[in-house]
Amino acid sequence: MNDNLQMQSPPSPEPQLHMSADEFRQHGYALIDWIAEYLDHSERYPVQAQVQPGEIAARLPDAGPEWGEDFANIIADFESDILPGITHWHSPNFFNYFAISATGPSILGELLTAALNVNGMLWLTSPAATELEGRVTDWLRRWLQLPDSFQGIITDTASISSLLAMAAAREALDRNIRSEGVSGRDLPRLCAYTSEQAHSSITKAGLALGIGQENIRLIEVDADYRLRTDALTHAVQADSEAGHLPFFVAATIGTTSTTSVDPIPQMAQLCKRHQLWLHVDAAYAGVVALLDEHADLLQGCEQADSIVTNPHKWLFTNVDCSVFWLKRPNLLKRAFSVVPQYLQSAGEINNYMDWGVQLGRRFRALKLWFVLRYYGRRGLAHHIREHIRLARLLADWIDGAPHFERLAPVPFSTVCFRYAPPHTDESEKDDLNRKMHSLINESGAAFISQTVLNKQFSLRVAIGNIQTQEKHIRALWQLLQDTAAQVIS
Ligand code: PLP
Repeated sequence: MNDNLQMQSPPSPEPQLHMSADEFRQHGYALIDWIAEYLDHSERYPVQAQVQPGEIAARLPDAGPEWGEDFANIIADFESDILPGITHWHSPNFFNYFAISATGPSILGELLTAALNVNGMLWLTSPAATELEGRVTDWLRRWLQLPDSFQGIITDTASISSLLAMAAAREALDRNIRSEGVSGRDLPRLCAYTSEQAHSSITKAGLALGIGQENIRLIEVDADYRLRTDALTHAVQADSEAGHLPFFVAATIGTTSTTSVDPIPQMAQLCKRHQLWLHVDAAYAGVVALLDEHADLLQGCEQADSIVTNPHKWLFTNVDCSVFWLKRPNLLKRAFSVVPQYLQSAGEINNYMDWGVQLGRRFRALKLWFVLRYYGRRGLAHHIREHIRLARLLADWIDGAPHFERLAPVPFSTVCFRYAPPHTDESEKDDLNRKMHSLINESGAAFISQTVLNKQFSLRVAIGNIQTQEKHIRALWQLLQDTAAQVIS
């Protein structure tokens, strides 16, 4: 340790050793005012942070302060040094990845969660945390028309939810994997299946669980980017004949690139026939089943073993919040439960620490409860429906424009398309669209995404922020057309 620093005396008049309730109130009110203003005017900021790599770090000292600092100074530095490096997910002009929203009720729920600072590892460590989690996951399940046989847990991300699904499926094989592991023993190759359009989290789950990347079979899709069940059947049969052990299938409702929907009922039949675990990744689009006109979206999922949807994607709840349901949580307990003496508790109670790897757990159910109650099912459906309408509007404009081309169906709120002027070959079209993508994002006016579909570079607009209105989509369409004119000139 640096002796000079150690010898320093505290700054006068007094070091910061405790934030009093009065001080908390003063700064808290000011911060709430700042947040309210931000939520209302986030479009004032460039959507994508306009900084170079390392620029924010260079503004920050190499070492932390020896003595505490005035909170007002910290907030001032947040505005001057941190805010410029923020990409504004809250902006109504954010259309990249899947657009998300932190809403008033969810932010206030999060604040209360931080204040209570509950660690919900055991029922005993805060009975309300466990019991509210059970209740809100049940409420959402019923709204999505999923049967009572599913039980829910809240995780941080869909990636972890899908990993839990694969772990439960592996445990369901009854091959002593918990005690003997997967290596150096009499175990055939375990094979998992998902579409080539599935999210990378399915492959990552396989990596984490020792399945091996080669054994995560990425199955071909049809012209609408839906998993082909004939290809899946063929792959499962080929693996079985080779002496491997197929065990897990992940279907997607709302794939990341195009939001395509896999044929769940057919996949469920196949899984039943071959005794495979069926997991449904509905991280983005599952919540669309809240809408009366889409109440049948999850048809076939009643036959699945597990399903995930993310309130932190399209249910107006701030990151992180993923809801995972499975029919046999006991399998997770069999896979993961380890209870040392200091965590023992008596009675038939649900301790969520037994459902996975994590011991400490955030009280996420509180913010979800706030959101579900504040908006109600119809309020949530209203916003989702509006996003779907806006995506349809943009898709119609694209379809009607002579030099734009839509590259995938638009079942929800995401539109994939490209600028395709005449007399340009495929590689020129790719270059023009790449340029458009960069120019638009660098402008700070909007933040859109990109993907590759059928080897064609595609622009992709995902609508999902609660503040996005028709005027923002009109402005985006104008920006797209102006940028197209710029890159072709
Ligand atoms: N599944 C799908 C279909 C996704 O689109 C995503 C992320 O966009 C995920 C899973 C991963 O979500 P998370 O970031 O919650 O792990």
